[in-house]
Amino acid sequence: MNKFTFVSVNNPDAAIAELDEHDSPKFIAGGTNLLDLMKENVERPDHIIDITHLAFNTIENNPAGGLRLGALVTNADTAWNGEVEKRYPLLSQAILAGASPQLRNMATNGGNLMQRTRCYYFYDTATPCNKREPGSGCSAIGGYNRILAILGTSELCIATHPSDMCVALAALNATVNITGKNGERSIPFSDFHRLPGDRPELDNTLEAGDIVTSIDLPAEDFTTHYKYLKIRDRASYAFALVSVAAALKIEDGKIVEARVALGGVAHKPWRSMEAETLLAGSLAGKEAFEKAADMILQGAKGYGDNTFKIELAKRAIVRALTEAAGLEEQV
Ligand SMILES: Cc1cc2nc3c(=O)[nH]c(=O)nc-3n(C[C@H](O)[C@H](O)[C@H](O)COP(=O)(O)OP(=O)(O)OC[C@H]3O[C@@H](n4cnc5c(N)ncnc54)[C@H](O)[C@@H]3O)c2cc1C
Ligand code: SF4
Repeated sequence: MNKFTFVSVNNPDAAIAELDEHDSPKFIAGGTNLLDLMKENVERPDHIIDITHLAFNTIENNPAGGLRLGALVTNADTAWNGEVEKRYPLLSQAILAGASPQLRNMATNGGNLMQRTRCYYFYDTATPCNKREPGSGCSAIGGYNRILAILGTSELCIATHPSDMCVALAALNATVNITGKNGERSIPFSDFHRLPGDRPELDNTLEAGDIVTSIDLPAEDFTTHYKYLKIRDRASYAFALVSVAAALKIEDGKIVEARVALGGVAHKPWRSMEAETLLAGSLAGKEAFEKAADMILQGAKGYGDNTFKIELAKRAIVRALTEAAGLEEQV
C-alpha cells in the first residue's frame, strides 16, 4: 500500500474543502471496497477523508411519502430496517443477497453505489485496462470474460457493475441525493451509473467532490409481487452472474405495472422500458414473461466465455417474474 494522509471530518463542507488540498484524495466510508483496491494498488489516494461522522446515518420518511436512506447507514441496518422490510421488501431481499453478514455490517449505502467493477483485469495491475488506466486497452475483450457484460458494452470496456442493492434501487425508481461544490442536487437512479462508451474510467455521473448524502425511494411500493433472484457460482459470498429484480402489480390475473432490472449483465443496472410496457396489460404468465425476456436481451452480445449469460439471463427473467407473480408451478 502507498503512503497516504488521513483526516476525519464532521460536516460535508469540511469534507469538500479537503479535496482542494491534495492531488488524489478519496472519501472512505465502510472501507470494504476502497481498502481492497488500495491493497491491490488499483486505487492510490494520497489523502483519505473519513466521512463516517457525517449526519447521513438515518432512515426516515421523505417529503414525497417514501423513504430516505442515509448514505452512511450500513447495508445491514438498511436491509433489516422495519420500514424497508415492510414497504420495500425487494430492496431488503437484494441487499441480503449480497456479500456476507460481516461485510454488510461495514458496507454503507453510499459505498455500495460507488463500488467498482470486479473485472479480474481491473484488479490485475500487470494487465492493460481502460477503466484503470485510460487508453491502455481492454484485456477482457479477447481475454477471459466469463463474468463480464453482454449488454451496453463498448469497444473499450465490457465491465459490469457488481452491486445487488443497485439492481433493486433501479427497479424501484430511486433517486440519489448529492451534495458537492455546487450545492445539492438529485439524480434519478437510471442516470446515476453510466455505460462505458468512450470513457470507461467513469462509473457514474458524479462530479469531482460530490458526496452521496442519501437515496430516496418513491412512495409507490411493490409489496405483494416481487422477487430478487441472484444466480451465482456459490450460494453465498459471490457476485451475481446474472440477477433480476422483478416487481409487479397484478389485478385479476392481469399485469397493470411491471418493473424488471438486471444485474451482472451491464456497466449499470439494466432496465428495458419497452419490455415493462409490453408486460403491462398482459396476462401474468409464461408467454408474456418469455416475450419480455427476449425483448430485454434483444441487443445482447456475448464475448465467448460469457455468451452463456444471454440464455441464462432470459431464463432468470422468466423465473423471477414467475415467482414474483406467485405462479411458480408454471415454470
Ligand atoms: C468479498 C466481498 C464480497 C462482496 N460481495 C458483494 C455482493 O455479492 N453484492 C454486492 O452488492 N456487493 C458485494 N460486495 C461489495 C460491497 O457491497 C461493497 O464493498 C460496499 O458496499 C462498499 O461500501 P463501503 O461503505 O465499504 O465503501 P468504501 O469502500 O468505503 O468506498 C467505496 C467507494 O465509494 C466512495 N464513497 C463511499 N461513500 C461515499 C459517499 N457517501 N459519497 C461519495 N463517495 C463515497 C469511496 O470514496 C470509494 O471510492 C462485496 C465485497 C467484498 C469485499
Ligand atoms: S472490461 Fe473494462 S474493467 Fe475489464 S479490462 Fe476491459 S476496460 Fe478494464
